[in-house]
Amino acid sequence: MAAQVLVVEDEPDIRDLIVLHLQREGFQVRTARNGADALRQVKASLPDLVVLDLMLPEMDGLEVCRRLRRDVATASLPVIMLTAKGDEADRVVGLELGADDYVTKPFSPKELVARVRAVLRRARPPEGPTAFSVGGLSVDFGKRQTAVGGAPVALTPKEFDLLRALIEAHGRVLSREVLLDRVWGYARAGEIESRTVDVHVRRLRQKLGAEGRRIVTAKSVGYRFEEAD
Ligand code: CA
Repeated sequence: MAAQVLVVEDEPDIRDLIVLHLQREGFQVRTARNGADALRQVKASLPDLVVLDLMLPEMDGLEVCRRLRRDVATASLPVIMLTAKGDEADRVVGLELGADDYVTKPFSPKELVARVRAVLRRARPPEGPTAFSVGGLSVDFGKRQTAVGGAPVALTPKEFDLLRALIEAHGRVLSREVLLDRVWGYARAGEIESRTVDVHVRRLRQKLGAEGRRIVTAKSVGYRFEEAD
């Protein structure tokens, strides 16, 4: 079945351009012209991915992203942001809020389609072991679900990928650079600040509650996962 993409953009020319290229590549596309409409549509029927412009009337894209991440039902929904060229602050904030990737305007539709494919590919269930549990923590890699003490935890796609990378390292320390590469992708590793990793780790620890202590800081290097109680 074709993946469904919700495109949120108020400028008709840009919106039409994105829709055209996504449809041409076989995606099912829906559109929203503002943040409130986007949130309504997502609630009514969950798409596979959202392409979200930051510059929207009334509620901006950052706020839309923040609200998606706050809701358990949409916390794991992949989001690609469209940001203005040179607006590094927006990009950093967007990634910290849980966007999965970004494309800078003016963009090539080809690049956007490639990003959509890459994010959807990473969101797919992986091969290999499908589940992991230690102490009160259980992770289903196939369904991308996490629970602590039996209660579901709403992780964003990046928080989930981060947890998975740490678990799969079996206690080895992973540097911020390695985590950037594994979780955000090689192409982005040079552009995204390592601070983004720290922000995600902090949030991941908070969400895991008592099990958050398993993510151990290796001073000035990176992080590792502690299996021992
Ligand atoms: Ca716009």
